[in-house]
Formats: sequence, structure tokens, C-alpha cells
Amino acid sequence: PNTVFWFRRDLRLTDNPALLAAVSAAADDGVLALFVLDPMPLRAAGGPRVSHLVRSLRALDESLGGALLIRYGDPVEEVPRVAAAIGAEEVHIAADYGPYGRGRDQQVEKALTGHGVTLHRTGSPYAVAPGRVRKSDDSPYRVFTPYSKAWAAHGWRAPVAAPRAVSWLPAHDSAGPPSVPDLPDVDLPDAGEDAARERLSAFLDGPIRDYATERNRPDREGTSGLSVHLKYGELHPRTILAELARHRGVGADTLRNELCWRDFYADVLFHRPESLWESLDARVGGIRTDSGPRADERFTAWASGHTGYPIVDAGMRQLRAIGWMHNRVRMITASFLVKDLHLPWQRGAAYFLDRLVDGDYASNNHNWQWVAGTGTDAAPYVRVFNPVTQGKKFDPDGAYVRRWVPELAGVGGGAVHEPWTLPKPPDGYPKPIVDHAAERRETLARFDEVRA
Ligand code: FAD
Repeated sequence: PNTVFWFRRDLRLTDNPALLAAVSAAADDGVLALFVLDPMPLRAAGGPRVSHLVRSLRALDESLGGALLIRYGDPVEEVPRVAAAIGAEEVHIAADYGPYGRGRDQQVEKALTGHGVTLHRTGSPYAVAPGRVRKSDDSPYRVFTPYSKAWAAHGWRAPVAAPRAVSWLPAHDSAGPPSVPDLPDVDLPDAGEDAARERLSAFLDGPIRDYATERNRPDREGTSGLSVHLKYGELHPRTILAELARHRGVGADTLRNELCWRDFYADVLFHRPESLWESLDARVGGIRTDSGPRADERFTAWASGHTGYPIVDAGMRQLRAIGWMHNRVRMITASFLVKDLHLPWQRGAAYFLDRLVDGDYASNNHNWQWVAGTGTDAAPYVRVFNPVTQGKKFDPDGAYVRRWVPELAGVGGGAVHEPWTLPKPPDGYPKPIVDHAAERRETLARFDEVRA
């Protein structure tokens, strides 16, 4: 019988077990490739993420020879409608484990069942599906290290090839991909499965060797740049893990561990969906934060990269310019918002989700909770990143700051991290909007209030 394959966060043909399941169920009949542009989850996505999605859909459509049926609207209505139009008895998907996706899939399933159609779930966007790795008493892990050991022991499936000789049903009344948002000032990476695989090969051909040390250096291109491809499933983590098995060494071990963080945060979200916006540690989360016009002004200075702290400003401007920020600098800028400006982590997390091309609820919001000290596995609240020492340590020559903050381009070496100490501070660059030492003391005092 004709079968529907509903693409969601798996915009690829290779290593897609759910797609293979659809092809095998169709046997000698056709497979309809469907994507539903659901306005609901896209509401929180800013231009960079929408741009990537649209370009990725175009690449997918091309690899299907134009057979991708794109519908706009609520999947609860659209999916059963499409299934009925081709007389399908089965719809295949990879499971979604986020709170919204899970609820939506349950509703779609109910609607399909009402029409005599079955929804089949195969695999997930993770190496190990959320909820799978548990303690011996069946409870979820709350702390990363023991989770990571159980995760490695659990293991993952071997990658599978792309299906061959599929009879794709024509996408007769496809609305076609929407137009790519016009973002003249943002330079985004290429989208699609081919771009993702090229990026992976380029990383494995060289940078992986020094990844363990270079990954902390924002002034070097030492990380994989794969987050956006993982976000849309242009590449599955299992594919990367299989490649890593051939690249022994500390670089491969470190990358495996980072991929485990991605799975861990999805697992935390699966067990505690409220952790998206509520502090997991309610006591620390109850710390006093600032609001009002002065807080708003500070937020704007942070978001636009005008705090007067060079590494913070470089990070925020990198984010605006390319929709991505280096991990070390994500930590520094997030810490600055929460601990130097005393603003709620949720405000920063929402801004990141809007601007990041790889913006992902589980990874973003739980990393924010980690920095804020409110997460399951949090850095202690008393740890406050010092933007000057962090800058000097991880961008020792100042190259990262000079690249993103043109007002400081003329300041040589590591002195760029403390422009206020220069005999002649550079024109046009703001003085620090707060005094880090004083704000650190303030943070610790506020922490004592909730600890008391
Ligand atoms: P690499 O260093 O090459 O890492 C490889 C992959 O491992 C990444 O692509 C990612 O999938 C995973 N990974 C690495 N570090 C982490 C981590 N700390 N948590 C979860 N997964 C990780 N990552 C996102 O994918 N989306 C987000 O929205 C996001 N928001 C973040 C917000 C804050 C405040 C912080 C501190 C981190 C955030 N991260 C997020 C994690 C991390 O910064 C990015 O995954 C990484 O910078 C992406 O670049 P890369 O692919 O070159 O990383």
C-alpha cells in the first residue's frame, strides 16, 4: 500500500531508519514524502533558524527529485488529509521527544486512528532515545557523569544506508518551500544533508585531532560546527559516533562526550518538561533578579554587544553576525547576563533561541540553567565567570575580540580584554556598564538570601 513518510527533524535520506521502515512498508507501492510547516513551533524561531529550515527543505526536495510535498497548517489536520488522499494505511515518523512534539504526535495519532491509519515511530533525533537510559531502580539520571557512563554502556544502532529505488509519489498539490527570509546582515552556513556530511568530513580530516584542547578557543576554528545540522537532522548523531569509532584518540573521546550532553539534556527535558522555563532547582531559581527600565537598558546593551566587556561584546556580536556563538563564549555571555546584570536566565535563553541558527530548546535552556546554577547538574551558583580572566585565558592574543568588535581592532594583544587600562581608550567603545567585582559580590549576597 502507498505509505506516507512525514519528515520533521530528520531532513536527510541517509541513516534514516524511519524512512527505511516507510519504504519497506510500501513494498511495491509508493512513498509520499511530506513536510508540514506548522506555524506553532516556528513562533519562537527567529530569522536564522527559519532560513536554515527553508534552505534545508529545498535541498531535501532536490534530492527527492521534487517529490517533497509541503503543506502549511496544523499537522493534526494535514497529515490525515494527505494519508487519505493517497489511500495510505501507514504513516511513518521518527519520534519527537520534546513536550510540544510529543503532544502533537499523540493528537495526530488519534486523528489517524480515526481514519484507520497507523502511525509508526522508528528512532529519534538522538543516539539513545530520551527515557531509555535509567538507573537500576528505573528512575532517570539527574547528573551527567553517571548518565554518560550508562549511555556509553547502552550503545546505539549502526548507521543504515539511504533507501534505494524508492517510488516517490508525486507531490501534486505541494505549496512548495516558502521563500528564504531576507537577512542581509547575517552570514549563515550552508544547509542540507550534503553540506552536513562535508562539514563532518572536513572536521574528521584535521581539527578532530586537537579538538580536546582547541574546542575552548573561540579565536580558532576548533569545533565541528555540526550543531545546526544536528538540529535539523541533516546528520544523525549515530552517523558521527560511527565515524568516531574509527578515529581513536582524545579528540574523538571528547566529541563523543559532547554528543552525550546533547542526549542528556533531551533526557532531562523528557522527564521534566517544565524544565524548559522553570528552574530545576527552585531555591536557586528564586534568587532576586532585576526588572524595570534600568534592567531593560542593561539587557539591550548585552544583546547588542555594548557592555564594555570585550569578550562579552564579541560573543553577542558574533551571534548577531552569523547566528552562532562559540560554546565558551556562550557560557561567558550567559554568566554575564545572570550574574553581572542580575537578569533572569529565561530572558537570555529566549534571546538565544531567537538568534541562534542551532537554537534548540533542550540544549539551550538546560545550558542556561547550568550557567545560572539552577539545573540538575549545575555549576555551583557561587561560580561567577570573570569576563576579563576568561578572555585572557581563552583568547590570549585578543584575535577573537578584534574580529567581532571593530572599535577594538587597533588594540594589540591581550590588552584588548581591558581597554579601560589603556593610556588612550579606543574611541567609540563603551566603558564597562557595571563593575564586575561589585556585581559578583552582589550576586553572592543574593545567593545568601535564598540559601538562608
Ligand atoms: P562542538 O564542540 O563541535 O560539539 C559537537 C556537538 O556536541 C554540538 O554540535 C552539539 O550537538 C553537542 N554539544 C556540544 N556542547 C554541548 C553542550 N554544552 N550541550 C549540549 N550539546 C552540546 N547547543 C545547541 O545545539 N543548541 C543551542 O541552542 C545551544 N544553546 C546553548 C546555550 C548556552 C548558554 C550554552 C553555554 C551552550 C549552548 N549550546 C547549544 C551548546 C554548545 O554551545 C553548542 O552545541 C556548540 O557551541 C555548537 O557548536 P559546534 O557544533 O561547533 O560544537
